[in-house]
Amino acid sequence: MTEGCVFCRIVARESPAEIVYEDEEVLAFKDLYPKAPIHLLIIPKRHIESIAKLEPGDEVVAGHCVRVAQLLAERLGYGERGYRFSSNTGPEGGQVVYHLHFHLTAGRRG
Ligand code: 5GP
Ligand code: ZN
Repeated sequence: MTEGCVFCRIVARESPAEIVYEDEEVLAFKDLYPKAPIHLLIIPKRHIESIAKLEPGDEVVAGHCVRVAQLLAERLGYGERGYRFSSNTGPEGGQVVYHLHFHLTAGRRG
């Protein structure tokens, strides 16, 4: 766990979150300030700062996050309707929380 990291605290159950999926490597929970009817965050449990800081081997957990997004979107009925999967990266990418996370949003066009 990385000190002061809000998402590490959620992984450690030291901060509350509405968790919708968990396995050994990945956690998914509802965004606290949803910007779409469905707004989930999918994160590796291990602290990685961002896509910009991925290291060799990290593609396994990053790819796993993609598969979890697919699973959750299907589970919520958006598999065919469609959804958005994104990751804000770095200061000019709009990243606020520096623990790698993928936004899964659905339920609204745009
Ligand atoms: P980003 O770093 O991609 O710009 O945004 C971080 C996202 O995390 C935002 O959508 C924000 O609403 C969400 N967020 C920030 N703090 C918390 C928190 O403590 N719990 C949850 N569930 N979401 C959070
Ligand atoms: Zn962290």
